[in-house]
Amino acid sequence: MLILTNFAYYQPTTTADVLPLIKDGNIIIAGGSDLIPQLKCASIPAPEGLVDLSGVEELQKIEEKNDGIHIGAMTTLAHAAKNETISEKLPAVAQAARNVAAPQIRNRGTIGGNVLQSRRCFYYNQTKEWRQGIPRCYKVGGDRCLQIQNSPICRAIYYSDMAPALLAYNAQAVVNIDGKDQTLSCKDLIEAHCQDHDEKKMLIKEFLFSKNSFSGVFSSFVKYSLRGSIDFPVINFAYVCGPDTLRIFVGGIATQVIELADTEAYLKEHGKGFTESAALEIALSEMNKKNQVIRESGISVQVKRGTFRYIETILADIKRHI
Ligand SMILES: Cc1cc2nc3c(=O)[nH]c(=O)nc-3n(C[C@H](O)[C@H](O)[C@H](O)COP(=O)(O)OP(=O)(O)OC[C@H]3O[C@@H](n4cnc5c(N)ncnc54)[C@H](O)[C@@H]3O)c2cc1C
Ligand code: SF4
Repeated sequence: MLILTNFAYYQPTTTADVLPLIKDGNIIIAGGSDLIPQLKCASIPAPEGLVDLSGVEELQKIEEKNDGIHIGAMTTLAHAAKNETISEKLPAVAQAARNVAAPQIRNRGTIGGNVLQSRRCFYYNQTKEWRQGIPRCYKVGGDRCLQIQNSPICRAIYYSDMAPALLAYNAQAVVNIDGKDQTLSCKDLIEAHCQDHDEKKMLIKEFLFSKNSFSGVFSSFVKYSLRGSIDFPVINFAYVCGPDTLRIFVGGIATQVIELADTEAYLKEHGKGFTESAALEIALSEMNKKNQVIRESGISVQVKRGTFRYIETILADIKRHI
């Protein structure tokens, strides 16, 4: 049986009450769907205290204002999936939320927690007892990577479904770091997180989608997984295209979300007249260069690389809307 250690449990109801609790030894808990399994498996050190954000209503608001749409970091995935403003104006966000795991996880899991979810690896997401049979790797304080010999870094994969959608809209995050509010691009926030360079004393308050990121554009999110339910993505795509915008992001195949910058450049240059076969060749070449696929349970590396071809469907969709 997996048993949690003892820790203090804080239930603040305002952001002002949360901030003093963000300190060494304490960990923020949102829905807990990513954090609790890691605590139970002793993959991360036991905290002195958990700071539960679920009672802080101001972090759950979805509002359309003059500068765009604000989505609180504590908005649950279930709520984001069915919210009218999000479905109508940010369809890729609603589709991504709808595609995460299963109803139980979507009811608990939040957008903030989804973005800051830990990168996953077959050798890490195991019980402490299971891991005792293998050498300690970087992610649990060891000196090696068991996936890629001689890798100087942990190569665990970032499987967030929400991150590609946020990046496709070029969203921003309003965060509080060391007591000060600041606005970061989601690109910087997610890159830092995927390199394990997170600000230690950070609270994500909300995500901001500027008006021009969603006005007059077509956007979509597509996910492929093994079972179609309660499953992390084998690969996912989020894309936004409009008269002046074209952004294509791929997730689930590297330590980061990958932007298909060469493909975007080709499509922008040729507009509606682009050749699908040429675009496919560029996109596959980019994904083959940038992917960091590792051993996963349930799918071989070879089959996973074969899923890169699903970009063909995305390119056909872009052709219809560019
Ligand atoms: C069975 C299962 C299936 C899953 N399937 C998928 C899937 O298909 N796709 C997918 O993308 N994910 C999946 N997940 C991963 C993840 O649990 C969920 O996506 C969920 O959204 C995480 O959100 P949470 O609120 O539960 O995060 P938590 O577990 O509460 O937190 C995750 C991390 O974020 C930090 N954090 C949370 N909120 C904030 C904040 N506002 N400010 C600062 N730090 C914060 C926490 O400290 C913690 O480190 C799955 C998880 C499980 C257990
Ligand atoms: S990718 Fe390597 S370092 Fe990271 S969790 Fe897996 S085995 Fe450990």
